[in-house]
Amino acid sequence: QQYTKDDIRKIVKDENVNFLRLMFTDLFGTIKNVEVPVSQLDKLLDNKLMFDGSSIDGFVRIEESDMYLYPDLSTWLIMPWNTEHGKIARIICEVYTSDRQPFEGDPRNNLIRVLSDMRDAGYTAFNIGTEPEFFLFKMNDKGEPTTELNDKGSYFDLAPMDLGENCRRDIALELERLGFNVEASHHEVAPGQHEIDFKYADALTAADHIQTFKLVVKTIARKYNLWATFMPKPLNGVNGSGMHVNMSLFHDQGNAFYDKSEQDELQLSTDAYHFLGGLMKHARSYTAVTNPTVNSYKRLVPGYEAPVYVAWSGSNRSPMIRIPSARGLSTRLELRSVDASANPYLAFAAVLEAGLDGVKNNIEPPKSIDRNIYVMNEDERQAAGIEDLPSTLHNALKEFQTDPTMKKALGPHIYQSFLEAKRLEWASYRQQVSEWEREQYMELY
Ligand code: ADP
Ligand code: GLU
Ligand code: MG
Ligand code: MG
Repeated sequence: QQYTKDDIRKIVKDENVNFLRLMFTDLFGTIKNVEVPVSQLDKLLDNKLMFDGSSIDGFVRIEESDMYLYPDLSTWLIMPWNTEHGKIARIICEVYTSDRQPFEGDPRNNLIRVLSDMRDAGYTAFNIGTEPEFFLFKMNDKGEPTTELNDKGSYFDLAPMDLGENCRRDIALELERLGFNVEASHHEVAPGQHEIDFKYADALTAADHIQTFKLVVKTIARKYNLWATFMPKPLNGVNGSGMHVNMSLFHDQGNAFYDKSEQDELQLSTDAYHFLGGLMKHARSYTAVTNPTVNSYKRLVPGYEAPVYVAWSGSNRSPMIRIPSARGLSTRLELRSVDASANPYLAFAAVLEAGLDGVKNNIEPPKSIDRNIYVMNEDERQAAGIEDLPSTLHNALKEFQTDPTMKKALGPHIYQSFLEAKRLEWASYRQQVSEWEREQYMELY
């Protein structure tokens, strides 16, 4: 919804809003808040509100720490909780430098930049619909997460309602109150695992929605004494949590991926095939962004409905990229590798740049793989030209660091900080000796 400054001044009065929570997102996808009393409203609306950026991870050096927050008025939202001190409203902001330039290290600014390149290439929107999955764990009396689940339910289970089911319904209702259009909400395959899908939106709004969504899920779960986690693989031996990303390019005539004519068997346009070609070509490098944690790669293993190989199909559900059967406005590509530890602003910028590279350079995708890849052996896969997705964060970073398209997608500032931060994360993990190793080797050697 579009609001003017006057609309917001009026709502603040009418609704008795006392605090403004100014939100932006750091490199790792974590939401950062600067909370100010409502007396600062005019300053904020005039783009005069400053904060100290040096305290934010991977943001800036001390000498350039004074930054501005420019509010995006369309993101105005009154939070439905914490009303003892009057209402709290949140507003998502763009970070600007002290000389009033969009700060290059702000992931949201970066997505805005990539979307503007997309418009220069003749498209009107990059639409994204996500399917985030999460686990609900019991909390201990200190309010910390345990690894204990509260249900034994499974996919579309109709078992008697339990805490988890109630909690998920409460989340879905709260999201609807906040203006989300919830399309589906169901139990997932693993015990304690849930999924809530909401209607697609343009990439910037979709990324903002994911940030709000996570906040709502975690906050409501707490009310039920449950801990919600989007960690990709919290438990051994059961499915992990993904966040499938459905995407399509739109132009003035509607969905640019749809081809009405019967010429193509799948009714996909040339643009759709080239975008797919780009997504296939750069898959191994953007995986560092769409699956950015050590734990992400514990999910991308055979046997748990998560993709392991770089392949696409118009019929099969298992490959990395699937073409759902809906056509017309809903014509889309579904990327199934992404997980919710990804920073959505960076992930959408990375896949958009990869797809546009395909469109601009007429990259043809390889042939689709319509049989079950998981029953093929390595030789058969090699003969069919099917590559593996990176098996570790380390391997993904090696691909990421040699792909100029990724540097273009994230811009030099974020590209470099991301690489440095993720190398440190891997180095720290590499130095740990795990319980698995002690069990395997202690007695044997
Ligand atoms: P699945 O078939 O994988 O279970 P769902 O039906 O759960 O898929 O999710 C579909 C998602 O795709 C929803 O978020 C929906 O809004 C979104 N979607 C529908 N049409 C488009 C489109 N043209 N572009 C992007 N996303 C779309
Ligand atoms: N949980 C699965 C994953 O890790 C996806 C299940 C599904 O198809 O919805 O991606
Ligand atoms: Mg699912
Ligand atoms: Mg899906």
